Amino acid sequence: MSAVNAQVSASPAALLHHVRTGRARSRAELVAMTGASRNTISNRVDQLIAANLLAEGGRGWSTGGRPPTLLQFNSEAGCVLAVDLGVTSVDVAVTDLSARVLATAGHPIDIAEGPDAVLAEARRLGRRVLAEAGLDDADVRAVGVGVPGPVEFSTGRPSHPPIMPGWHDHPIPDAFSRWGAPVFVDNDVNVMALGELGVEGSDQDALVVKVGTGVGCGVVVGGRVYRGAQGSAGDIGHIHVVAAEGRSVLCRCGNTNCLEALAGGASLLRDALAAGLPVTSTRDVVDLAIRGDGPALELVREAGRTIGSVLAALVNFFNPHRIVITGGVAQAGLPLLSGIREAVYARAMPLAARTLDVSVSDAPELSGRVGAALMAIEGYLDDDSVREAITS
Ligand SMILES: [Zn+2]
Repeated sequence: MSAVNAQVSASPAALLHHVRTGRARSRAELVAMTGASRNTISNRVDQLIAANLLAEGGRGWSTGGRPPTLLQFNSEAGCVLAVDLGVTSVDVAVTDLSARVLATAGHPIDIAEGPDAVLAEARRLGRRVLAEAGLDDADVRAVGVGVPGPVEFSTGRPSHPPIMPGWHDHPIPDAFSRWGAPVFVDNDVNVMALGELGVEGSDQDALVVKVGTGVGCGVVVGGRVYRGAQGSAGDIGHIHVVAAEGRSVLCRCGNTNCLEALAGGASLLRDALAAGLPVTSTRDVVDLAIRGDGPALELVREAGRTIGSVLAALVNFFNPHRIVITGGVAQAGLPLLSGIREAVYARAMPLAARTLDVSVSDAPELSGRVGAALMAIEGYLDDDSVREAITS
């Protein structure tokens, strides 16, 4: 994924990127944006049109003289499969090359059943959504997979994932070889961060916080996901939190009072059960809060405050433009958000907090699939494969 290089170059992939993200709509705008010559741009645009990746249609506004012919990305020049692997479910979508969902299907799984069983289910769902969308195996240009654990991005292999027994070093891309397309695998939080940036992307710095069973954070620097030296950037779930009244809660990592142990979805369920609420899952607690149940609301808000206390420190350190909250618990909406905002604005330094935007995802249940699709699309439309597409 060379989006940053692509934005300063005038390679065919870069020109395509400018058009499909809405940054340029005509040859003249591409010339102005890249500084390349009119001839170079015209030749490359013609090649992209011949390869069926761009199309001409309509006229733009004239700034004097003949109005320019508008360029459009042909988002129907293929499709991608987006796989969102969770701890308890797998969701697969087929999307066009603008990450528009054409069909989607999901199934409950237990990630601990191991890669063979779980990936077979993902393949089955992949065949099903393709059939539902009226597409063939040959239409698939790339596959994107988000998994709930650390991944070596270059090989698509999980690396000692704590809640995915049996998955260490498993070559996930091999499971999708039937589609003969490149397969991109990353951890679910990074994938969700892409989903929240959306198809047009962003040049901003952002934190995308997933509050699911655990708590994780996608770190977006200048519009790109930052992975860190070993790929574990944003693993905020095990940051130590000062708990109230000498409270000591053991975390699955072996330490006590980690953020995840005090404010993740699993801890929300534990505390709701301890308070005698009629629940059997985190989803039940979230549903009670949505319906306005007082004790459930207070548990969600308190989890928000705890998460916010860690985010306040991250805001002081990283000074993001915005924070987006996603994941299953984010479906609770306002009570979680108000708890987070309360702690962030109380503790973050004024300069860093002044224009900070803290919000809940519009569609937390979809961001994993949309993000997996965007990862696959960016990978498929990189410099090498676009060059291949226009010369073949
Ligand atoms: Zn921990």
